[in-house]
Amino acid sequence: MARKMKVLFCSSEVEPYAKTGGLADVAGSLPVALKDFGVDVRIVMPKYRCVKINGDKDLLQDNVPVYFVENEEYYDREYLYSTPEGDYPDNLDRFVYFCKSALEIAKREEFSPDIIHCNDWQTALIPVYLKTIYAGDGFFKETRTVFTIHNLAYQGLFPGQYWDRTGLPQELFSIQGLEYYGKINLMKGALLFSDYITTVSPTYSKEIQTPEYGFGMEGILRDRSERLTGIVNGIDYSVWNPSQDKEIPQNYDVKSLDKKVINKQHLQTEQGMGIGRDIPVIGAIGRLTDQKGWDLIAEVVDDICNLNLQLIILGTGEKKYHEIMEEIAKKYPEKTSINLRFDPVLAKKIYAGCDIFLMPSRFEPCGLGQLISYRYGTLPLARETGGLADTIIDLTEDSRNGTGFLFKEYKGKALLDAIKRALEFYHNRKAWRTVMRRVMKLDYSWKNSARQYLQLYKEIKNLPTALNVR
Ligand code: ADP
Repeated sequence: MARKMKVLFCSSEVEPYAKTGGLADVAGSLPVALKDFGVDVRIVMPKYRCVKINGDKDLLQDNVPVYFVENEEYYDREYLYSTPEGDYPDNLDRFVYFCKSALEIAKREEFSPDIIHCNDWQTALIPVYLKTIYAGDGFFKETRTVFTIHNLAYQGLFPGQYWDRTGLPQELFSIQGLEYYGKINLMKGALLFSDYITTVSPTYSKEIQTPEYGFGMEGILRDRSERLTGIVNGIDYSVWNPSQDKEIPQNYDVKSLDKKVINKQHLQTEQGMGIGRDIPVIGAIGRLTDQKGWDLIAEVVDDICNLNLQLIILGTGEKKYHEIMEEIAKKYPEKTSINLRFDPVLAKKIYAGCDIFLMPSRFEPCGLGQLISYRYGTLPLARETGGLADTIIDLTEDSRNGTGFLFKEYKGKALLDAIKRALEFYHNRKAWRTVMRRVMKLDYSWKNSARQYLQLYKEIKNLPTALNVR
């Protein structure tokens, strides 16, 4: 029998232990799916205050070992990375410590990995350390690194004068190394030093090679395009399952579609909106940041609210968007329900109770909302970018295979036009139900994506390790 592939999966957040966004969903599911394929996969993450585990080890879903990096001073805090006032000032030290500890834990556990799979800037120093400080360490001789970009907008930038804290040689603080306009850029380090780079959708992997989406990294990414690919995320089909979900008022499946409307009525009642099974309910859930396109909604909110629909929003984030949302709530109390908090239970009720799920993102590496809404028979309406472009087929263009509604231009009017198209389609109840069934049968479980990652790990094992400092 072939030897088991050994993978150390490093992530700064893992569902159900700690979560601020989609990365946690990925880190909580992909390793479990890899384990099902026979991979010996183990996770490393920081032990934040919210991690309610005794000791420094646990088993995720009774199956995947998780090692927690402990350090009270660094991780025993209310938030993961930032307070409402801003980032923790010692984030560099916190994640330098995390990256070094991840490697030391592998040694302590005598777990010599074939692949170290790193995710986002918090883990970006691991590939760099392996090819510098640990270069002579036989323990990692056969180890290859994969670095996954979940969001290029967050690169881990720190003042140049902190360089010594990284423990890296001075010559790496240069344009060919981790320097970026006088600052330390951790993500840049991973893009240069990892053996392979992935992103979470094929379209995003192309987009980030252009100035519009590259956040300054487009040159390096173009240079490394032969070792850059995109694999769409899956979602955990046991968590997101309308037929068994305990958090929604009424369970249903593709054979009992009629029951979905009970969730809609509950949502309308609970949120103080008028009840009506024929009023289309549009939902949106996400971080209130520039990425997610809330400004487009704000731009045309008067036109949107003039239509026969209800709008329910759940999100938390930047102050300016909280204020915009509060304005909208005040102006349209009957037509909208604005919820400015993090609330996983309400999120599920929205996925289940809505007809349309809105994602007008400026950019979207993969996006999970559209995949979750498919599962609940809710049709996505999204901007054609990144993972949204890869996972949604526009119904207006292709009614036989369509799964939702797309618009291209980042303009309020384009969003409004798409909403009007969706509403028109909505009133053809028979066609709508056909599409509901179609999307509920799609398979975006982790199995597919995990298979692609495994294939990639195997290919990378056979590649010569690359030192890519230009
Ligand atoms: P990102 O990772 O950019 O935040 P994704 O679409 O990939 O966006 O993943 C967001 C995840 O977080 C989804 O599971 C979504 O339902 C959840 N989520 C975002 N905001 C909230 C919120 N305010 N309350 C509950 N869940 C939320």
